[in-house]
Amino acid sequence: MRIPPGTSAADFSAALAQFEKAVGKEWVFTKDEDVDLYRDSYSPFWHEEEERVASAAVAPASVEEVQAAVRIANRYKIPLWTISTGRNLAYGGSAPAMSGSVILDLKRMNKIIEVNDKNHYALVEPGVSYFDLYRYIQENKLKVWIDPPDPGWGGLVGNSLERGGGRTPMRDHFNSVCGMEVVLANGDVLRTGMGALPGSKTWQQYKYGFGPYFDGMFSQSNFGIVTKLGVWLMPEPEAYRDGTVMVQRHDDLVPFVETLAYLMNSDIVRGTMLLESPILNYRATQGGGVLDMPGGPSVAEMDKLAQEKNLPYWGAELHFWGPQSVIDEQWEYTKEKFSAIPGATFKDGRSYKFPLELKETDEAPRVALGIPNLSVFGLIVGAQGHMDFSPIIPMTGEGVFEVLKVFGQAYADLGVAPRNQFFVLPWAFFPRAFVLLFGFPIEHDVEKNRKTREIFKRLVEVAAEHGWGEYRTHTSMMDTVSNVYSYNNHALRRLHETIKDAVDPNGILSPGKSGIWPAHLRKSRA
Ligand code: ADP
Repeated sequence: MRIPPGTSAADFSAALAQFEKAVGKEWVFTKDEDVDLYRDSYSPFWHEEEERVASAAVAPASVEEVQAAVRIANRYKIPLWTISTGRNLAYGGSAPAMSGSVILDLKRMNKIIEVNDKNHYALVEPGVSYFDLYRYIQENKLKVWIDPPDPGWGGLVGNSLERGGGRTPMRDHFNSVCGMEVVLANGDVLRTGMGALPGSKTWQQYKYGFGPYFDGMFSQSNFGIVTKLGVWLMPEPEAYRDGTVMVQRHDDLVPFVETLAYLMNSDIVRGTMLLESPILNYRATQGGGVLDMPGGPSVAEMDKLAQEKNLPYWGAELHFWGPQSVIDEQWEYTKEKFSAIPGATFKDGRSYKFPLELKETDEAPRVALGIPNLSVFGLIVGAQGHMDFSPIIPMTGEGVFEVLKVFGQAYADLGVAPRNQFFVLPWAFFPRAFVLLFGFPIEHDVEKNRKTREIFKRLVEVAAEHGWGEYRTHTSMMDTVSNVYSYNNHALRRLHETIKDAVDPNGILSPGKSGIWPAHLRKSRA
């Protein structure tokens, strides 16, 4: 059996016995075959000593059991790694950042406490998955939509705390959070926002309460264990429609993104969009890539190729939700705005009215219609998994050109061809900025994974040199990413760690999460 670092075998077995007393013998897992289930099946260290693996797992069923578990962990200084549904694949799965941590698995806490379709919110426990909430809403015929991520098998608590994204106008999941219940490392339990007022009638309707607003402190962090989360939902719209806008020339991207930003920031185009490039996709099929590699074709040559092949250079599918007359008008207005770009073309897309009965075979954009599914797994072709490199970049055409050039040069400098990545072009998962999601292939091949890690680290550094930083990262890259958020000699990280030492002096909660280490482990920082 693995033992947490710095813990004696005697202390560990005493702690395990106490965990068993607190949560029930059958909910403490120590056998390899059970603990192995918490391995990250997309680990970039597969078959290597450095793979981050747990020593045991504890699965409480209530807030009181979570409180008991942290008190025991504090007594024996046992590191706990909290997961909710544990589906954080591409960013670490259910495995800890520090080997030997005990997984605190909250998936048994799976109550949907309330769904309100008059003020449009839900209050859920950590084990509630997007599928669970979707089913509950369907069964109870409630007039609200969830915003599932791609794929939808994770949970609202884990995904919202990690600041994940979906596709509908509620796509920025952390922005939809309203009110938390949190267990602190000392076993104390608090409620944020209006929840601090006993008997509050508006815990899920008003975020801020009174005084400093703390919810952000519990996202991507190791300062507490969230045991209840309020989430704003979208009222079921009357209708949905989408349409595609395409522009012809390379340089059209500048007015294209400017128009897009205007429409998005005016709440006319809503939800997530992905920038597409039919000509770059064509080139990729001919052995070229989407990145702008040194020595590659010039802009004039690419414009000529696009013309010859009759393929637009840039485009995007845009989405509209709301009353039919409003979304029809929004699409008309969108076309009018983009028509200022000479040669812009438009195509009407799909259209749905709600409530909707979908056939299994229907090609509907399910995630954009608030329906969780797993079809995104079809993308991971030819690899066992992927690890996502996800920098936030400016929502400008010039910004995208710079990204394609800088990362092209970085690959050339590393002497490797960009391979097997998806989504090299940006998404608008969040308001106001683009995000890239380079899915680096993870294989059961030590040498290939070693190279992938090296490229990943280099891209983090190159991105930082150009003012771009990751919105989220794999557990094995948390120090790497935290190291580049270094303004004023790491003033923000120093604040994180001052708070860490104050609220968790024994450093028992998720050491290493987001590069935040407790005092006694700070030297472990990579
Ligand atoms: P999901 O299955 O929804 O994708 P996970 O349960 O894997 O999400 O959680 C993702 C990450 O979020 C975890 O690795 C952990 O760092 C953090 N996290 C998850 N649940 C909690 C929680 N209840 N309190 C605090 N942090 C959490």
